[in-house]
Amino acid sequence: MNFDLTQIIHDGTYFLISVLGKAVFAPLIRDSELYWFYWLSAFLIAWGFWRICLLNFSPNALGFRENFLSKKIWLHPSAIRDYKFYLVNSLIMAWLFNSMWLDPIAIKSFLNEVSNVSLVDAPASKDTHVIVKIAYTLLFFVVYDFGRFVAHSLLHDVELLWKFHQVHHSAEVLTPFTAYRVHAVDLAIMAWVPMIFTATLTWIFEQGSGSGIGFYMFMGFHVIIWFFNLIDHLRHWHVWVTYGPVLNKWFISPAHHQLHHSADPRHWGCNRGYELAIWDRWYGTLVLPDENPPALTLGLHEIDKEKWKFQWQLQLQPFIDAIKCIRFGNK
Ligand SMILES: [Zn+2]
Ligand SMILES: [Zn+2]
Repeated sequence: MNFDLTQIIHDGTYFLISVLGKAVFAPLIRDSELYWFYWLSAFLIAWGFWRICLLNFSPNALGFRENFLSKKIWLHPSAIRDYKFYLVNSLIMAWLFNSMWLDPIAIKSFLNEVSNVSLVDAPASKDTHVIVKIAYTLLFFVVYDFGRFVAHSLLHDVELLWKFHQVHHSAEVLTPFTAYRVHAVDLAIMAWVPMIFTATLTWIFEQGSGSGIGFYMFMGFHVIIWFFNLIDHLRHWHVWVTYGPVLNKWFISPAHHQLHHSADPRHWGCNRGYELAIWDRWYGTLVLPDENPPALTLGLHEIDKEKWKFQWQLQLQPFIDAIKCIRFGNK
């Protein structure tokens, strides 16, 4: 075998700079969820909500400056762990997707061959009737949301998978970067399970229409998912935003997800949905948020805290716990 050290150093440096550059400059990348536009929309929604509550003399009003922009949150050791994890994970995920066993093109063509379904970029036929396209866009959203609920439920209910999902729940404070504190195994489950559901839906529509089909998009996202992206950062941000007593039964507000992160045993495993609350209602895991924010302690059980202090622990501890779980069946 011929090792060209200079070439390896060159390729490695290029890989590091390009991946980290993309991660750092994500706020300038239009089809990134971290695009500046979504930060601004989250900020304006949170500020608007706070103003309305202030006018109504709600205790919500106390929380905006102290929590939304507080150094106590943004420079908390747990938040700093999130930033580091975001960078480390972007390298790991890029490496996994560049390696032969997680090559997205190879996976896609393999699945296309097996299932004869175009999974991701189904070419939209110009002949698709507008009603069919609207129906596909709506159903794709519902099925995708259900797929994400199922995946998230597996991560909570299957002990082995919970070992990996714990990484996300180990955050002691929330910032939008906590959304990226997700182990690679967790990410794989969250990507593949919904894909099976949406692939099946696409297959049904393609069989019916006899051609490829695509959904309506806006700014690089499925149009309905784009709409929810406007508020998505608030799921992991210390401002208590709810949709009110009626809509809270139908949609998962940012406050629902903050309850999902609560260390209080009464909240464990609640509110697993992403946008629609109907799946949690059906599964019996919906906990409605009050209009006024409760004093929540976030994270895992106290005794677990020491396990999630360092980057290597966040990446490797789940494998250690998973092996123990397989060998001894322990909790
Ligand atoms: Zn969870
Ligand atoms: Zn979360």
